[in-house]
Amino acid sequence: MSPAPQVVSRFAPAPTGYLHLGHVVNAIYVWGVTRAAGGRVLLRIEDHDRQRSRPAFERAAIEDLAWLGFVPDAPPLSAFATTPCEGRQSDRFVVYEQALATLRAQGRVYACDCSRADIVAAGGGQGDELRYMGRCRHRHLDEGAGRGIGLRVRLDEGDETFEDLRLGHQRQQPSAQCGDLLVRDREGNWTYQFVATVDDFVQGVTLVVRGEDLLASTGRQIQLARLLGRQVPPRFLHHGLVMKTPTQKLSKSDGDTSVRDLRTQGISAADLIARAASLAGLSAPLTLTASDVAAQAEVTALARGVQS
Ligand code: GLU
Repeated sequence: MSPAPQVVSRFAPAPTGYLHLGHVVNAIYVWGVTRAAGGRVLLRIEDHDRQRSRPAFERAAIEDLAWLGFVPDAPPLSAFATTPCEGRQSDRFVVYEQALATLRAQGRVYACDCSRADIVAAGGGQGDELRYMGRCRHRHLDEGAGRGIGLRVRLDEGDETFEDLRLGHQRQQPSAQCGDLLVRDREGNWTYQFVATVDDFVQGVTLVVRGEDLLASTGRQIQLARLLGRQVPPRFLHHGLVMKTPTQKLSKSDGDTSVRDLRTQGISAADLIARAASLAGLSAPLTLTASDVAAQAEVTALARGVQS
């Protein structure tokens, strides 16, 4: 019998702000579960949003990770000092063009000029998650018309199911939840849903560990990956979020919870990791180093699920 393939996961911050306690919780789960399962962690800088990403935040994230002691297996942190680097999405646009060509060959890609207001007006709902109702599917807009034109991919109707390693069986209906997915936005940015799915496939990621605020993205990413040719999706683990208050998520603009600010106040890396772990509900000791997170009882229990 051939040995089980090695688990490959990733830590994928967007350089639109400083790392905060929520990222540290994510790093605890990513490195903890992956190491406990004998796997490798990739670092991916998700700077697909060219308007909001800043090189200074990328440098800060890399430095904070090194200070915390979370060391990726690839690319090495030093690789990010040189350009291009395979771990940075803005250096991977050729890969995204190729993936787009695969979807185009299936006749699924179409141009769309709808704004958020247009989607709401067309009955796509309200709030964070809008459903695109397909207004431009048959309008045959010219993609080359310049700014203001995005690209969507037509999704199939039906269920996507998966077993979340923490939350159990999940059933989602991407087409009914979000409608045809935006691949490139009207500013010309590749979208998170598209590039994360392409990279998870192309980079051989077999385990996606992220916060449960991204749970609804998973069904659509599984379908998109299948359209790109991925037969076996990664395993998924959605962990709980650290809340600032019972109803308020941490945000990168909260200076009081950024790793930077906590470092400046003199906290040690082990104290900061322990603080993040206890905010996440892990039964953590008072200090906890990055190399010890894989030994936490809750983490090893989750890792057993990855191996099964
Ligand atoms: N770049 C995303 C974030 O910072 C990560 C999403 C993911 O893990 O799929 O929230």
